Amino acid sequence: MKVPLLNLQGQYASLRDEMRESIERVFASQHFVLGAQGRALESAVAEYSQTKFAVGCASGSDALLLALMALDIERDDPLTLFATGAAIARLGAKPVFVDIDPQTYNIDPAQIASAITSRTKAILPVHLYGQCADMDQLLEISSQNKIPIVEDAAQAIGAEDKGRRAGSLGLMGTFSFYPTKNLGGAGDGGMLATNDEEYAARLRRLRAHGGATEYEHSEVGVNSRLDELQAAVLLVKFPHLDRWSNLRAQKAAMYTRLLKEADLGIDVTPPRVPETGRHIFHQYVIRVPEYRDRLADHLKARGVGNKVYYPIPLHQQECFSYLGYGEGSFPETERAARETLALPLYPELTDDQQNYVVESIRSFAS
Ligand SMILES: *Cc1c(COP(=O)(O)O)cnc(C)c1O
Repeated sequence: MKVPLLNLQGQYASLRDEMRESIERVFASQHFVLGAQGRALESAVAEYSQTKFAVGCASGSDALLLALMALDIERDDPLTLFATGAAIARLGAKPVFVDIDPQTYNIDPAQIASAITSRTKAILPVHLYGQCADMDQLLEISSQNKIPIVEDAAQAIGAEDKGRRAGSLGLMGTFSFYPTKNLGGAGDGGMLATNDEEYAARLRRLRAHGGATEYEHSEVGVNSRLDELQAAVLLVKFPHLDRWSNLRAQKAAMYTRLLKEADLGIDVTPPRVPETGRHIFHQYVIRVPEYRDRLADHLKARGVGNKVYYPIPLHQQECFSYLGYGEGSFPETERAARETLALPLYPELTDDQQNYVVESIRSFAS
């Protein structure tokens, strides 16, 4: 049996005709940038994410960049995933990293207080693997210090914290439609969500060269738009998103049950499921303290795809060496980089495949 890490073919096969019609309509219109498809997707995502506004752009990375530009974050302003740190550094601002909560792999709110200075411009939690960061605590820190939150919800569209959707809790939230995300396009795409009308308007200007109209520019922006072909593809997929994310969560629960029943005899910790939230399981990531790399090799040899997401923490990347962090700066982050492994998880994954994955882990353990 083969269990690939990803399987985008199955989803495409189920939507192929609808997708082709939708794309053909865009070709027939010959309207490719900033049109009806993009506006329809913006409305759909805003409603889905419980925000008043959503603004499409060219990628999840650009969504982060635009959010920071809208906050006037610029050169030398201090302030997971590479895109998050890179968006900050791209503007010449200084990213300040903090350690993670070892159970959720999300930002640890307890570590933020000591990292905040009078020059901190934003707090940027990443809702990693499809689970919201601890937003109550983050919102409290945000309001106490009057520092806005930009949520990186690239992996968490539809995830909830106490009924509140990812992207709706901070001043702005960002999404990615990269093909492998829970809602993935046929290329790059991204979106920002906000409840603030002025920020929404500014984001619309910033993504179109900063122009209020085609030839009136109050500031310099970028060219970062979600094109109509991507929006058309995403609109076909969008009605299925909840079902897909629920299937992911069900299959995650099955992995966790199977792993517990397998009585492995080695330490394999399944992901934590929040009691007061909705985890959309963009990834199913286990922690294997002792044998991670050998398990990864064993699974690969048995045809089970797997991947170490983020083997090198941001603070240990060469491009951020100037920040002065080093080994030991963030022990939990470094431990997660050494110990975690993602297993195959997608709506089309079968019970047989899941049983085979866990059987393969069991055969390694014994
Ligand atoms: C995918 C991702 C991004 C970047 O999105 P792109 O659309 O690939 O630019 C940013 N942050 C997180 C957490 C992501 O998973």
